[in-house]
Amino acid sequence: MGAGVSGLAAARELAEAGVGAVLFEASGQVGGRLLSWRAEPGLVFDVGATLLAPVGEGFAALLESLPADERPERIRRWIAPHQGLRALPADPARNAAPRFAFRDGNQRLAERLADGLELRFGAPVEWLDKAGREILVRGEPFDACVLAVPGPIAADLLATLGERRPLRRDSYRSCLSVALGYPMDAPDLPWFALLDPDQTHPLGWLSLESRKVSGRAPSGWAALVAQLSARASSDWWGLDDDTVVQRTSVFVGRLFGRGWDSPSVARVFRWTHSQPELAAPTEAILGPESRVALAGDAFGKGRVEYAWEAGRRAARLLLGGG
Ligand SMILES: Cc1cc2nc3c(=O)[nH]c(=O)nc-3n(C[C@H](O)[C@H](O)[C@H](O)COP(=O)(O)OP(=O)(O)OC[C@H]3O[C@@H](n4cnc5c(N)ncnc54)[C@H](O)[C@@H]3O)c2cc1C
Repeated sequence: MGAGVSGLAAARELAEAGVGAVLFEASGQVGGRLLSWRAEPGLVFDVGATLLAPVGEGFAALLESLPADERPERIRRWIAPHQGLRALPADPARNAAPRFAFRDGNQRLAERLADGLELRFGAPVEWLDKAGREILVRGEPFDACVLAVPGPIAADLLATLGERRPLRRDSYRSCLSVALGYPMDAPDLPWFALLDPDQTHPLGWLSLESRKVSGRAPSGWAALVAQLSARASSDWWGLDDDTVVQRTSVFVGRLFGRGWDSPSVARVFRWTHSQPELAAPTEAILGPESRVALAGDAFGKGRVEYAWEAGRRAARLLLGGG
């Protein structure tokens, strides 16, 4: 269950081994935190995972396996650190590894991975049950189950089965991600994103989506995504969306000048479980005698690639492999 990249990877691995799988997804779409907001007039914002930076051969091969016109584009501009909104020189070593993004949004990867899979949308799994050796998911019996959701959600679901694994409920930070669109071109800079390395400034990350890769905005328009630091996300969580947009825009205005403090398109995305701060121990993936395996990014860093690997690993463990 869970049609994020991890659940999709698990279902694909099972399908490739000839084992039928059904993916139960609470929302109405695939991707989970690999979410792209596509808004008028042709603006594309990655409001979850911003970039794909393959470090393992498997994930790089996955991207390569896509049809040439659907492959993600390499991001040529850099990520620069900022200190109090002052951009500092980018570190060439930190910017050396290739980074990619899909022209029409990174969610495209999830949409591709979902091809041919059996999906149930609007199907939240609130609890699990057992009938003999079978696991009941929303009342349907299955031989086994992969929980491809953030660790704290997995821990709650396991508890409904009476299973306990070493998972911490406070292991994820939350994040407010704010999409901002403007009827003017984004500044043409050597960097596409600013990052506060200390995460002391509320603007933890700012991405010029329309300078990241092509196809993100029509000419004369800019698409930006601000991710607030863990501290600001927590402090501002209770504010209404308009106030979050207004406060975030003040910083963008300080960076780029007049006009940048009043976006004409804006939307706030609230990630309760944004990225894990602590990796869960691998023994939590599959308990002895259990037929419920855990996937998701809880077992590594909060990155698409690790979530994809975790999904494949959970499926292989259930199939009896390593
Ligand atoms: C703001 C932000 C920025 C990020 N930036 C990057 C980046 O630049 N690069 C990078 O590699 N990674 C980044 N990440 C992390 C990356 O997005 C995640 O690590 C990865 O997408 C996690 O995939 P997943 O399948 O493990 O979980 P998810 O994507 O969370 O998928 C879980 C799915 O399960 C569904 N679900 C939840 N509960 C239930 C339930 N009870 N029943 C049924 N379905 C349920 C959810 O709706 C969701 O679709 C970022 C994440 C965020 C939030």
